[in-house]
Amino acid sequence: MKRLRIGIIDIVSRGPTRALYARIMNASLASIMPQVMGVWCQEEGHEVTFVCYTGFEDLLTELPDNVDVVFIGAFTEAAHTAYALSNLFRGRGAITVIGGPHARCYPEDAARYFDYVLGFTDKGTLRDILQDCSQHRPVGVQLAAAQQPKALPGVRERWQFIDPTLRKAPLLKMVPMLSSLGCPYTCAFCIDATVPYQPMDFEVLREDLRFLLTKFKRPLVAWHDPNFGVRFDDYLDMIEDAVPPGSIDFVAESSLSLLSEPHLKRLKRNSFKGVLPGIESWFALGDKSKTGALLGMAKVRQVSEHVNLILKYIPYIQTNFVLGLDSDEGPEPFELTKRFLDMTPGAFPAYSLLSAFGRAAPLNLDYQRSNRVLPFPFHFLNNNGAMNVKPANYSWQSFYDHIIDLTRYSFSTRTIFRRFLATQGVTARWLNVVRAVSTEGFGRARYYRAIRDRLDTDPQFSPYFEQESSVLPEFYKDIVRQDLGALMEWLPEGGLYHDPNAYLKAGHSKDVIALV
Ligand code: SF4
Repeated sequence: MKRLRIGIIDIVSRGPTRALYARIMNASLASIMPQVMGVWCQEEGHEVTFVCYTGFEDLLTELPDNVDVVFIGAFTEAAHTAYALSNLFRGRGAITVIGGPHARCYPEDAARYFDYVLGFTDKGTLRDILQDCSQHRPVGVQLAAAQQPKALPGVRERWQFIDPTLRKAPLLKMVPMLSSLGCPYTCAFCIDATVPYQPMDFEVLREDLRFLLTKFKRPLVAWHDPNFGVRFDDYLDMIEDAVPPGSIDFVAESSLSLLSEPHLKRLKRNSFKGVLPGIESWFALGDKSKTGALLGMAKVRQVSEHVNLILKYIPYIQTNFVLGLDSDEGPEPFELTKRFLDMTPGAFPAYSLLSAFGRAAPLNLDYQRSNRVLPFPFHFLNNNGAMNVKPANYSWQSFYDHIIDLTRYSFSTRTIFRRFLATQGVTARWLNVVRAVSTEGFGRARYYRAIRDRLDTDPQFSPYFEQESSVLPEFYKDIVRQDLGALMEWLPEGGLYHDPNAYLKAGHSKDVIALV
């Protein structure tokens, strides 16, 4: 087979940026799968050029002109950037392939702009593409392995891509690792809930941790598992067996139910510096936070006590909330979150507006059936740019009033100061401050205010939000234009628009080919 010139682009930023938080963090948010694809392509004998796009590179010049195939990994918020790049590289004669969350959530839409659209991808899937390697236009081929791969290349093999990416990070250099895929929990809104839980090879993990000690004085590993530590003792045994306690720092996403005090003691001994548990709601999902049937203020008290306990052992904790769930009604959910912040000043709150990402979760079918999904352009589907599910119990105006109030409260000078004092460790303290004053805190409050004002004053807003008109307000078009910069001219005709009910219409993935 001909040796192919392959370009791989991992899109971390949805467009060019100058934000301070992005400068500090984006390189540490690189995905693992594009690196894996890079290793597999090389193993198949091809030549690979790899770019992690953090928002500071010139994407038009980073890849060579003459690539045969371009693989792009993207979250949905970066879909327009991905579509523009595909158009650009197709114009230069390349075959284009998209994978990652956007391809899994919106395969029908992505197939309009790519030759291949990937679901679960293993080496067999990749081999099939490279052997076929032909144009599929105007509609691309959707391919998916029957399940997630059983094994992935470790850090040692991916280092050739990790190293240049982390060189872009001025301060925090987080090495992405994966110790398991899927999750045994079944949160209805989550993309991982339907993926069977599967641990990765412990021998590879041990080797990788030891390898990192040869690269950094004190490595920092970000576990990308949807829920780290489901088999808690097995994982901690593996880490303790691999490296001396405290020689590597770790951060992980872990549900509260896994963070008991004995577990916390062990995590501290092994230098876990940050955890990101999901609280989601004061009126639902009690299993996940180990609060069972407790609701409202009783749940706030219990979770706050638990999070304060975590803070005694782990310096950085981000608590995740979903705003606008159907279980929420009136001002109470927002007021309870404010009480939680008062009682738990060291926790950094991360808010997501209820969003339905295409095929991400079966629950999205219910939203589509009841015609509650709005067609906001993908660029805004990052849990904050737009809420694409019409709230069940709020008008848009009152919903935005509540989230503006909560955002301002969460990032007021007083709350930032209290958080600073309640957080241990220089890095954790300043990271919280930077997040609060950058795009995530102040920036978001301003953005929500702009939307709220337009709901009253912009004649295009209310009809669009109320699904009486499909005319996208100019406000959103302007933002896409501004954010995409030079890439805007490559965004294909119609690329800004998608069918928000494609999942329902497709009838359960019947057009995805499973390669067994
Ligand atoms: S616990 Fe977390 S990862 Fe697991 S299904 Fe629920 S939201 Fe998803």
